[in-house]
Amino acid sequence: MYLILGLARSGLAAAVFLQQQGEAFVVFDDYKNDLGYPLLKECDWSRIKTVVMSPGIALSHPSPHPLVDKAFRQRCEIITDCTLLQRFAPDKRYIGITGTNGKSTITALITHVLRACGVDAVMGGNIGVPALELALNHDVYVLELSSFQLERSPPFDLDVAVWTNLTEDHLAQHGTMEQYRAAKKRIFKKAVHKVISTDDAYSLKVADAFPDALRAALADPVVHLLVDHLYLKGDHNKQNRLIAYYALKAFGLDHDTILQGIQTFKGLKHRQQCVARFGAVTFINDSKATSAVATEQALKAFDAIHWLVGGQDKSDGIDSLIPYFRKVKKAYVFGAARERFSRVLAVHKVNFSAYEDMDEALTSAYEEATREKDTTTILLSPACASFDQYKDFEARGDHFIQLIEQIKCKESSLQMKVS
Ligand code: ADP
Repeated sequence: MYLILGLARSGLAAAVFLQQQGEAFVVFDDYKNDLGYPLLKECDWSRIKTVVMSPGIALSHPSPHPLVDKAFRQRCEIITDCTLLQRFAPDKRYIGITGTNGKSTITALITHVLRACGVDAVMGGNIGVPALELALNHDVYVLELSSFQLERSPPFDLDVAVWTNLTEDHLAQHGTMEQYRAAKKRIFKKAVHKVISTDDAYSLKVADAFPDALRAALADPVVHLLVDHLYLKGDHNKQNRLIAYYALKAFGLDHDTILQGIQTFKGLKHRQQCVARFGAVTFINDSKATSAVATEQALKAFDAIHWLVGGQDKSDGIDSLIPYFRKVKKAYVFGAARERFSRVLAVHKVNFSAYEDMDEALTSAYEEATREKDTTTILLSPACASFDQYKDFEARGDHFIQLIEQIKCKESSLQMKVS
């Protein structure tokens, strides 16, 4: 008997999946208990052998969810949806990707290159498609694995395990950097091939512990073969392309096939996504940049920036971005972070205005950007979580795109009136 703990998207997918497989299960969620599935309270704990944990349930930090405690005491096995996928589709090839940043880009890029050369590959996991929403009849599964998935599962059987980089993030859920790194390192436990990007000190230390790992570093001569990419701009994306290159090499593709495949990748939504260009103004949606480290990449990649920044701020704020303030023509701060960020911008003499929400910030940014003669970029790269005003970063990015659509309609009706 399984217990599905947490009924958000991945938990619900697990329920549908187990039902289809004819497996017995019960469900528990702190808030939802009327979804038509058998409930934990109707079951004797002694019958539960395996607990399928959702990422939102605390395993250990700040303190374990009471039912996790109970599951440990009952000596239940704790797994995630990705483990279940492997158990029900054991003879497939799996590529797993973890790290602080770049996971989704690399997951999508690897999947794209595999599909471009005719391999039946699909992607899932943390990238937004629960593993158990994937059909079981594909040949290759490319799984984005968060530290939460890795710490809650027995080691995954991976053909290729990929480590992108490591910076401070999610410490509220993991406690210390050491615990965060330990959770992520579990990706290598049963991996046939290991790829580690070694451009940060934490990752270098991890690579030293795995002498058989392929190392991907920006100093690598292969980097010179990665010519300019239309959609994957900036050094961080060069790093992402290099990591994908090594992962695909380890998987067995040849050099030319990989490079060709990489060039036809069109990038991912909400990650430095070029949404529109009106005259000299380009709109970039980088809503996925929920930390200063991620936003740093965008500030490096663009020039003459009208910067939309704000939301629910994280502990590190935007101080680490001070060296890039010179690239900002004007900042438009919004959301819960606006007072804190305004203070930093004022101290560093950055031209800025503060707004209640992104809508007002964008209207003002567009007015100011169109007054300029030179090319400019209106960049939404919030360096913040979205939860003060949105469900998630996707909703924030979608709203940004929708607002740009409205600007476009207004502009074209004005043009029609003039002509
Ligand atoms: P993840 O899935 O790990 O959150 P994404 O591929 O979705 O990462 O990228 C999210 C944001 O992180 C990007 O918009 C970019 O700002 C930043 N980013 C992407 N790749 C890297 C990298 N290799 N190093 C540092 N920052 C990166």
